[in-house]
Amino acid sequence: MKIAVLNQKGGSGKTTVSIHLAHAFSMIGYRVLLVDTDPQGSTRDWAAARNGEAPFSVIGLDRPILHKELPKLAQGYDFVFIDGAPRVSDLTRSAIMAVDFVLVPVQPSPLDVWAVHEVVELVQEATIYKPDLTAAFLINRKIANTALGREVTEVLGEYPFPVLKAQISQRVAFAECLNIGSTVLEAAPKSAASDEVRAVVEEILEARE
Ligand code: ADP
Ligand code: MG
Repeated sequence: MKIAVLNQKGGSGKTTVSIHLAHAFSMIGYRVLLVDTDPQGSTRDWAAARNGEAPFSVIGLDRPILHKELPKLAQGYDFVFIDGAPRVSDLTRSAIMAVDFVLVPVQPSPLDVWAVHEVVELVQEATIYKPDLTAAFLINRKIANTALGREVTEVLGEYPFPVLKAQISQRVAFAECLNIGSTVLEAAPKSAASDEVRAVVEEILEARE
């Protein structure tokens, strides 16, 4: 399965979510490839911080040729994640054309939910060529124990993609772990943060069946 984590809004959590999901899937025993399409290369930096000992493969490809190259690159992997780039539409389009499923991390604030229409439109355009393409929103940086604002629920509800039941909270552990080339799954496997990541994995696996 190929999954692109996309949202042209920078800071929505694409890199955080991509690395954590890639790690979680690899811990289950799947062979995982993570493709960093952001020219800033945060995911490559994360992998470099581990001195090349990432628990899954990481490559950088920040040109809009993913849809052509990915079938070859993906050989031998069970799951491929694409960490999306901000702004540039051609990279996002290319990523959408390369995958089966688009996951859109979104922060539960009005400004952030309004910004998702860009990626939603690109996904809808692509379904003309790829009728089986699916997408879902993933709430990221939710403030623990608060309900999602009405505006957030309403705006996301207008789009034709579901919002995953599993959500990722705002937790310093997510940021701290990535800075040292780790993940919460490794640094704190029994934490609430890790449980949240595993819940997202389960929901993706269930949806695939
Ligand atoms: P993007 O790749 O979409 O630009 P990042 O994953 O780099 O977004 O996240 C942007 C910033 O927000 C980073 O500093 C990251 O550490 C932080 N961040 C992302 N998700 C969370 C979270 N769930 N809890 C705390 N900090 C987060
Ligand atoms: Mg990023």
